[in-house]
Amino acid sequence: MIRRLINKVLGKKTATGPRILPLDKHGIRREQIHSCALKVTDTLAREGYAAFVVGGAVRDLLLGGTPKDYDVATNATPDEIRRLFRRSRVIGRRFQIVHVYCGPDLIEVTTFRAATPLAEDEEDDARVTSADGMLLRDNVFGSQEEDAARRDFTINALYYDPEKQEVWEWHGGVADARKKVLRMIGDPAQRYREDPVRMLRAARFAAKLEFHIDPATRAPIAELAAMLARIPPSRLFDEMMKLLLSGHAERGVKQLRAEGLHHGVLPMLDALLDDPARQKFLHCALHDTDLRIRQGHSASPAFMLASLLWFDMREELRKNRTRGLPEQSALFEAMDTALERQRRALAFPRRLDGMIKEIWSLQSRFEQRAGARPFRLLSHPRLSAAYDFLMIRAESGDASQELADWWGRFQDAGEAERAEMLLPAQSTDTQRRRRKRRKPSNASPAEGD
Ligand code: ATP
Ligand code: MG
Repeated sequence: MIRRLINKVLGKKTATGPRILPLDKHGIRREQIHSCALKVTDTLAREGYAAFVVGGAVRDLLLGGTPKDYDVATNATPDEIRRLFRRSRVIGRRFQIVHVYCGPDLIEVTTFRAATPLAEDEEDDARVTSADGMLLRDNVFGSQEEDAARRDFTINALYYDPEKQEVWEWHGGVADARKKVLRMIGDPAQRYREDPVRMLRAARFAAKLEFHIDPATRAPIAELAAMLARIPPSRLFDEMMKLLLSGHAERGVKQLRAEGLHHGVLPMLDALLDDPARQKFLHCALHDTDLRIRQGHSASPAFMLASLLWFDMREELRKNRTRGLPEQSALFEAMDTALERQRRALAFPRRLDGMIKEIWSLQSRFEQRAGARPFRLLSHPRLSAAYDFLMIRAESGDASQELADWWGRFQDAGEAERAEMLLPAQSTDTQRRRRKRRKPSNASPAEGD
């Protein structure tokens, strides 16, 4: 009790306990916490349980940002949590989590989880580790201290008590946040072996928060990167989309490459980042997506993949043309080849293929600006995505700016103006031939079909 009081006043850590920081040492006020998270922690506390906001929300508030979502950690078991909240349900196989709803909002509530993997000879069917140290199942309840030790980075292991407005830390996360250092808790190599996805998370958080990866945390990644091949494809895809659709994709992909993590997930990055023209296109595509997301708009995984694979597809198309395939088959085969090759590294869902292919194949249809064809394109469900793609191409010099501007005007124009804008069929052909002579390498797919 006395120790607790001293802790509270000084914000100091004792030999065994957490360091407890009062409000003036961290600045996170109760009012900043989402009302649904407060409802959860207040209810749990009233029933005598420990209840903290944890993870990304505390980190983001500490750094002056706005949390994306809220997680709560408690010593109540999933069943006990379930009983306290009428609108809640237990989910998850790897570890049981309780989802508590308030209106449309959702809070993830987890029971403190135990930390270190069991020794190999210890028998416990709740935790299974493979021969190389990867955690396969991890369903053991533990103390808050253990829960903190099993989290990935120090800045992700901060616990906020809304009632007392205290931050509890076991691993120096607040100091690391101030220093902008991303530091793995425990032995980094062992933690990556347990769960290789932590390597991708390192790249993602470093990019998103503009943090520096601590040398000891960074060092083992180069050697262990290949372990990502063992992660189930769907989890890998989810994690990559978090990185690409975080609003910080541009820095994220550079970070991936710098750490050598891209080989298994986005193998096209080498070719994209080493060629100035492609790099420009990638920059425009990622920058545009980042801006959209930061302005609160949505961005689609399909659009992102269409951008990342655009040059791969074009390269295949060029080969198919050289083989003498008819234009239409050349395009369709090229699209399939590019998608299948990527799928071997990062299995993205097949339901995205349709939209990716439409974005790509509409690029050549934009070239047709005579007769009835442009009008037919106006009602195409993917026009807007394909037009965004065309604008990125134009911005990076991969398509003509005049063409992109024309389509911008054509979509906004009234009937009479549209009719006036149409190019005579003949002149389209002449223009196209001229363009082809000037820039043979810049021909867009299916051009001339
Ligand atoms: P954000 O939601 O902003 O992407 P986050 O830190 O909240 O970031 P989540 O994936 O929502 O990330 O996970 C919540 C918390 O769970 C993390 O802060 C971390 O403490 C812990 N965590 C998540 N994934 C792992 C992992 N693979 N290994 C160890 N701890 C993890
Ligand atoms: Mg989160």
